[in-house]
Amino acid sequence: RDAFLSVRDLRVQFSTEDGIVKAVDGLSFDLERGRTLGIVGESGSGKSVTNLTVLGLHNPKTTTVTGEIVLDGQELTGAREKTLEKLRGNKMAMIFQDPLTALSPFYTIGRQIMEPFRKHTGASKKEARERAIEMLTKVGIPHPKTRVDDYPHQFSGGMRQRAMIAMALVCDPDLIIADEPTTALDVTVQAQILDLLKDLQQEFGSSIIFITHDLGVIAEMADDIMVMYGGRAVERGSAAEVLRAPRHPYTWGLLSSMPSLSGNVHEKLMPIPGNPPSLLNPPSGCAFHPRCGFRSEVGGTLCTTDRPELGAGRASACHLTAEQKQTLFVEQIKPR
Ligand code: SF4
Ligand code: MG
Repeated sequence: RDAFLSVRDLRVQFSTEDGIVKAVDGLSFDLERGRTLGIVGESGSGKSVTNLTVLGLHNPKTTTVTGEIVLDGQELTGAREKTLEKLRGNKMAMIFQDPLTALSPFYTIGRQIMEPFRKHTGASKKEARERAIEMLTKVGIPHPKTRVDDYPHQFSGGMRQRAMIAMALVCDPDLIIADEPTTALDVTVQAQILDLLKDLQQEFGSSIIFITHDLGVIAEMADDIMVMYGGRAVERGSAAEVLRAPRHPYTWGLLSSMPSLSGNVHEKLMPIPGNPPSLLNPPSGCAFHPRCGFRSEVGGTLCTTDRPELGAGRASACHLTAEQKQTLFVEQIKPR
C-alpha cells in the first residue's frame, strides 16, 4: 500500500485574545493513491482547518503548525509559499462549498479555467481555450463552445459547481480536497455532482479528501472514513466498517441521528445532546465525555481523567472494551 498523502501528529494552533485555540491536536492519517477518504465531524471538529493546512492556505502570522505533511514524498510543513503555490491547482486542488468563493464575477468562466492551466503548463491561449472547452464538456456543461464565454452569473448554481470542478481539475491534480461541495445544492443536482466526481476520479486517478457532515454523502463517496471530534480523530476504518459497525460513541450518535443509511433505517434514538467541545479549554480526559452516554459502561473516572488514544489501522479512541465497542451499538442503538 502506497500512501500518497501522509499526515503525522499534525497540530494547528491559533493565538487569539482569549488564548491558544487548538484547532487540530495531534492528527495522523494516510491517503492512498486513487482512494477517497471521507472526513466527518461537526463544525469545529478540525476537518476544514486540517485541509486548509494541507493546502498551505492558513495564515502563517496567526497560525502555528507542527507535525508532518508529506505529499508524494514532498514535505509540505515549512515549505515555502512559492513551492505551495506551484503545487496548488497543479498537484492538489480544492473544491469549495460555494463556487462563488472560487469564481470571480468579473471574468468569463473560460478565462478562469484557462488561467491555472496556462500558469502551470505554459500552454498558449488557444490551447488553453481548447482545454477549457474540453473540461466544460467533461463536467457536463451543454454547448461548451459558447458557454465558455459566459460569466458566472449566467450559470445556474449547479452549473457553477460544475465549472468550479472543471477549474479545479484542469491541471489533472493528484489530490482533490472537496469541502462540503454539494451542501448548497438540491438533492438531484447533488447526486449528479457526486456521480460526476466519481467519474472524474476514475478518469484522472486522483485521490480525494471529502469533507462533510452528511453521512449519506460519505456512504456514497468514501472508501475510508475518519471521524473527527475536537481537533482529533476518534475513529477510523473502511467506509463499510465504520458505517456498519461503528465503534465510537460519537460515531454512534452521528449515525443514529441519520434518518436512513444505505437501506438500513437508523431511528433517532440517540441525538447527541450538548455542544462541540471548546478548543480553548478542551475537556479533560476524553473530549467527548461531557456528551457521552456510555461513561457508566467504562466505570470509574477513566473517561474524565485519561485521554484515549487512537491506535493504528481500524481503530477508535475510546476506553470501552473491544467487546463493548462491538456489542453496545448493536444492542442499544441500531434498530432491529
Ligand atoms: Fe464515552 Fe468514555 Fe468512550 Fe469517551 S472514552 S467516548 S467518554 S465511553
Ligand atoms: Mg498535475
